[in-house]
Order: sequence, then structure tokens, then C-alpha cells
Amino acid sequence: KQAKLQDIRTQAAVTLDGTKVELTANIELPEDCELALENSASGIGLFRSEFLFLKEDDLPTEEEQFEAYRQVALAMQDKPVIIRTIDLGKDKIPSWQSEREAPNPALGLTGIRLCMAEPQMFRTQLRALLRASAFGKIKLLIPMLSALSEVKQTRLHLEDIKAQLREEGIAFDEHIQLGGMIEVPAAAMAVGAFLNHLDFISIGTNDLIQYSLAVDRNDDAVSHLYDPLNPGVLHLLKHIISTADKMGKPASMCGEMAGDPSLSRLLLGLGLRRFSMLPIQLLKVKQQLLTAEMGRIKPIVSKMLKADDEDQLRVLLQQLNN
Ligand code: PEP
Ligand code: MG
Repeated sequence: KQAKLQDIRTQAAVTLDGTKVELTANIELPEDCELALENSASGIGLFRSEFLFLKEDDLPTEEEQFEAYRQVALAMQDKPVIIRTIDLGKDKIPSWQSEREAPNPALGLTGIRLCMAEPQMFRTQLRALLRASAFGKIKLLIPMLSALSEVKQTRLHLEDIKAQLREEGIAFDEHIQLGGMIEVPAAAMAVGAFLNHLDFISIGTNDLIQYSLAVDRNDDAVSHLYDPLNPGVLHLLKHIISTADKMGKPASMCGEMAGDPSLSRLLLGLGLRRFSMLPIQLLKVKQQLLTAEMGRIKPIVSKMLKADDEDQLRVLLQQLNN
């Protein structure tokens, strides 16, 4: 089987009937680019930059961050690299942030919220990212969006820092794209409003499932309820993908769902064309796409969207994957 997976390494990611799919990698450290390229990723769909912030007791400096982001941009050459701004606060809590006990960290100062509360930390990162954008095709991604003001504030910071860099004669990509993670249910429902102000979106199913089902993604006691095949979750995904499609803006998915080969055809049927996952999942998902036929997938996925419960959905999923 391993040999077979290796054989498809260089094959283009298209379905049997010619639907093109983009397969990109999720990484946590610059060194991970190597594994992404070995598994023929067409870019980085999610660089979880917060891992740079968990290593030391102190915040990484602008220089340290610039080096890390530049290293990824250079390693991926002309391929797109989506770098997510600091997403700390819920499951990942750095030592320098632990003084404050939040009543419910998952509903507290996480992702972009923490960045809004710590503008100096955020602006240092944005400056490092902009400087690195001169060395490759970097795009920015904001995590945990729940209010449009978070996008507007981020744009204000970006414009301000761009003006500084221009004044200092430091190179950066003037047209750097800004995207947002859709992982809070309210943002999923109002995704059109966010898309009016963003260049692209990425669906974070890990959190979207957690928040829409009110199931802690790390609590074993309720893990049987953490189910991507929940009808409500599927309807949310369908709504996000169709809205982005209608608006002509790219939507990718970077949660674990995108890297689960048993769900690849379902996601294709929901209209998803951009998948980002751990590098080791890339070829397994590609194998699913190469044998998929949209004509066969669509009617089954339509039935899935009408299913009442997970049991019906599982029966239909089996049909889809046969
Ligand atoms: C997600 O929530 O699906 C996601 C990709 O982000 P993280 O797992 O880092 O929260
Ligand atoms: Mg998330």
C-alpha cells in the first residue's frame, strides 16, 4: 500500500471526471515544510504560528519571527503560504499568559481576541509577517473571528504598519491577502458579511464542531458526541462553502476533517475544493480524490443533507465511499 501511495505522489489532484482539487499542508514549525513538499503539498494552508510563542518563557522578538516566516516562504518558493496569526488562549496557554484564570478559556480571550487585547504583541507579529512577505507568497489568516470589528481592526493595524515600513524603505508585499478562520458558529452563519471584508476564508472544523455542538474537543467524557457527521454541522459547512462560492472567494478547510480520507468525498460533494491537512494525510486524501466521480457523489451528498441523524448519515457515507 505504501508503494501505491508513493506512486501517486506526482499525479495531479483531480477527480476521475476532471474536478481539480488543491491539497495543502498544515504545519507547526518551519522544519515541517520538508515533509509537506515530500508529500507534494501545493502550498501551506495553515502555519500555526503560535508554536513559536510556546517555546520560550518570553515572547519571540520581531527578528526571530521574521526569520521563521521567511524560512517558510523561502522553503515553499512560489507556492502560497497561509500564516495564521497567534491563536493562543484556549488549549494552548503559554507560560507568560497563565497568571489569569479565565472562567472558561474556550469562550474567553482566545485567538484574535487575545491579539486585540495585546496590540503590541500583535503588531510585532504583523510587522514580522509583512517583512517576510517580500520573500514569497505569504497570506495572513485571522483565527477565532466572531465579530467583523476584528477584521476591521486588523486591517487598520496592517495599514498603519505598512505605512511605517514604506517610510523605513523596508520591502513587503503591498497586495498581501487577508483571510479569516470560520470556526465560530455565528461567523459561519454570517459568513457573507465576513467575506465582504476578507480575501479568503479557511474553515476550522476542530473548533466549529466544538462550538456548534457545545462539546469540548479535549474532554473524553463527551468525545462520543464530537461528531463531524452531525446534521447541523453538515448544514453549516454547506452554507459556508456555497456562500463563498457564490461570492467568488476561495474557501479552504484546515480542520482535521479535511485530512480524514473517509470524509474526502463528502466534502467534495459539499463543494469543497481546497483541503489543508497534516502532511502525512496528503497522499491518503489524494488517493480518494483520484477515484472519485462527482456525478456519483452529488446525489448521495444531497441525500445526506436531508438525513435526520448520524446513523442515516453513516449508511450514506458508506455508499459514498464504496
Ligand atoms: C480548527 O479549529 O479547526 C483549526 C484548524 O485550528 P486549531 O485546531 O489550531 O484550533
Ligand atoms: Mg481553531
